[in-house]
Amino acid sequence: MRCPKCASTLDKVIDSRISKDGSTIRRRRECMDCNHRYSTAEQILRENLYVTKRDGRREDFDKVKIVNSLRRACQKRPVDAEQINILVEDMIDHLENEFGMEIPSTAIGGKVLENLKNIDSIAYIRFASVYKDFRNLEELLDEIGTLSKQPIL
Ligand SMILES: [Zn+2]
Repeated sequence: MRCPKCASTLDKVIDSRISKDGSTIRRRRECMDCNHRYSTAEQILRENLYVTKRDGRREDFDKVKIVNSLRRACQKRPVDAEQINILVEDMIDHLENEFGMEIPSTAIGGKVLENLKNIDSIAYIRFASVYKDFRNLEELLDEIGTLSKQPIL
């Protein structure tokens, strides 16, 4: 690592912390030249995952895109970034187990919704209204109806 202050590459790790879901390690480092302290984060790269579209096209799996759409759905809701991250990591684990390296695009939205349902019902409806593409108010109300019949966690 290069010190952000003096650009020295000599540093020592003074603390390591693993995130709740185990996917990220944060390290507190100290520059051995100027004693400046800074943090780094280490993350598991999901570089071999692909999304297969309905027409057979294949794209790289884009975690950031999913996280961003979830952030939008969770705006002003009591859901923090850590929860969203855990949700997405958890979802990827499940999809990977189920489909391997090539995940059908249709499975992703459904899985996000399944997880989101348990976290925040308003965020769920927001996400569903984009993903499910309700044709009219009735369909949306139907969805809200099925949701309100479920026990609140
Ligand atoms: Zn330094």
